[in-house]
Amino acid sequence: MLHELTAHALHEKLKAREITAQELTEAVYERIAEVEPHVKGYLTLTKDSALEQASHADTGFQNGDEMPPLAGIPIAIKDVICTKGVRTTCGSKILENFVPPYNATVMTKLHEQGVVMVGKTNMDEFAMGSSTENSAYQITHNPWDLDTIPGGSSGGSAAVVSADTAVCSLGSDTGGSIRQPAALCGVVGMKPTYGRVSRYGLVAFASSLDQIGPFTKDVTDCALVLNAICGSDTMDATSVDVPVPDFTQSLINDVEGLKIGVPKEYFTQALDTEIADSVHAAIAVLEGLGATVEQVSLPHTEYAIATYYIIAPAEASANLARYDGVRYGYRNENPEDLISMYKKTRSEGFGEEVKRRIMLGTFALSAGYQDAYYKKAQKVRTLIKSDFDAAFEKVDVIATPTSPTPAFKIGERIADPLQMYLSDVMTTPASHAGLPGISVPCGLVKSGLPVGLQLLGAPFAEENVLRVAYTFEQNTEHHQQKPKIQTNGVG
Ligand code: GLN
Repeated sequence: MLHELTAHALHEKLKAREITAQELTEAVYERIAEVEPHVKGYLTLTKDSALEQASHADTGFQNGDEMPPLAGIPIAIKDVICTKGVRTTCGSKILENFVPPYNATVMTKLHEQGVVMVGKTNMDEFAMGSSTENSAYQITHNPWDLDTIPGGSSGGSAAVVSADTAVCSLGSDTGGSIRQPAALCGVVGMKPTYGRVSRYGLVAFASSLDQIGPFTKDVTDCALVLNAICGSDTMDATSVDVPVPDFTQSLINDVEGLKIGVPKEYFTQALDTEIADSVHAAIAVLEGLGATVEQVSLPHTEYAIATYYIIAPAEASANLARYDGVRYGYRNENPEDLISMYKKTRSEGFGEEVKRRIMLGTFALSAGYQDAYYKKAQKVRTLIKSDFDAAFEKVDVIATPTSPTPAFKIGERIADPLQMYLSDVMTTPASHAGLPGISVPCGLVKSGLPVGLQLLGAPFAEENVLRVAYTFEQNTEHHQQKPKIQTNGVG
């Protein structure tokens, strides 16, 4: 089945002209017709332009041109990334009719490769959440069990790759929003080092943490998408001008001589025992393949969530000030005066969680509290980063679970924000330190839901992370497991 294949397998078929990009695109939309009503991963489908892009790629293949690895490959894009001429809602009512007049840098780069954009994916409003239930539009269902959430905030991007309604996708990760949904949906998801990928055209949530990255069916595809999107950009002053290696060169099936650190602070009582078992088993596989495994300590891990929920809302409160009903987006039509227009527009346009974050962030930055909260959080962030710096003196890669639990039931945590925030306990530390991190499938719990292994590297050491992830994948079969979507019944 074409829709089930990886980008690199499809590229061979396209190159050999066994299939056309148009056939492939049609196959993906047929799959969408079959399962999307149950999964609900997309907010917008762009079939007409997708078929045009496919036909363009086909011309290249037919002419025998040297085509890039992602030419003609159907890819889905999180609805927080600006796509010229295609509605970009950020999962928010306030941007319901927002059509960007420009492409994000990652989109320009993907179009240069000749990709086929299938559509825009559902997400928690402004990327705030861990379940995609904070979308103003719809609930996305985890393909492995339609009664459960797909993770968040890039839940749509994870679910569509898992459900084979896209070959790969882009998401964004501020505190775990690529890695956690990848783990919960049983796919590969990677957050690159902060500064690796341009944030130009990524609608800002917390600018010192936000980073774009891929969801894919395997590690090879992850390297291919990274190759396509990385690189410094004059339009993003925080993008870093360092050489971008060819990440496919890191796909080495060998971990002999590599040192893997296992931080004891991640294996606490809060961790689901079945997840702990899968992750320990995965680490044992790597050890069996020649890696040296040693315990490391990241002593400030326990402060990562508290720190994140000061810094991210503080930045969000500033970033979201631009939605004032004046320049673009939703506007209340019956205000009494200008101030009332602002108030009504923002009260009606934003959802509960976004308003909660704006209030938290505004409070943390207010006169008299800024030093006690924001400044202190910045200091703790530095301590968390120093923990990692010390650990990476000793080891090449750090291995942990990605999420403390498997996918939870829809509705289970939505009424309890603190419980929801704890979903990020394993992913926020690396976000504070700006590190690259991948989640790869490493098994299923008894109820049949996927488990993710998180592998972290030092800044700009994506190559180590990919090498360990690739070796693990090549020597196990977890990534080949597919959900059986129940197309009758729930959803
Ligand atoms: N779940 C976290 C939050 O709600 C992380 C979100 C993200 O990485 N965008 O902020």
